[in-house]
Amino acid sequence: MARHDHQLHEGEALKTAARERLTREGEQWTDMRAAVFDSLAGFGKPASAYDIAEAVSKAQGRRVAANSVYRILDLFVNANLARRVESANAYVANAHPECLHDCIFLICDQCGQTVHIDDDTLTSGVREAAKSAGFTAPRPVIEVRGTCGDCEDR
Ligand SMILES: [Zn+2]
Ligand SMILES: [Zn+2]
Ligand SMILES: [Zn+2]
Repeated sequence: MARHDHQLHEGEALKTAARERLTREGEQWTDMRAAVFDSLAGFGKPASAYDIAEAVSKAQGRRVAANSVYRILDLFVNANLARRVESANAYVANAHPECLHDCIFLICDQCGQTVHIDDDTLTSGVREAAKSAGFTAPRPVIEVRGTCGDCEDR
């Protein structure tokens, strides 16, 4: 991994880092965006726009449309505040909004719990292989399906 101050945040520190990152992008940290980020960060596993819309609707006592949540999630992905977990067709909060990596996700088939690892040596190998095959600007999507430690112990 390139040498930099790589920090993983959680809880309040993650919300602060996410807010700082988004406002540095010139975007506003609106109440709605904050609510969506809170819900996403608290989910514990990949969540769809519908999951988030339901959770935010419940918390606020009013109906929030999945479409508006989807647009916010899209903004979050572009601003590095969230990542899409392709094989789960859902999103997770990005624990490192300050730096960009080809995040690798390990997804448990039993409980849906998702572990996130960053290993740029692994992903740069994939990038190189893609370039050799004539692909420009490859964006590796590396996801591993299996059984997490918790489920294995059960
Ligand atoms: Zn980093
Ligand atoms: Zn990552
Ligand atoms: Zn599991």
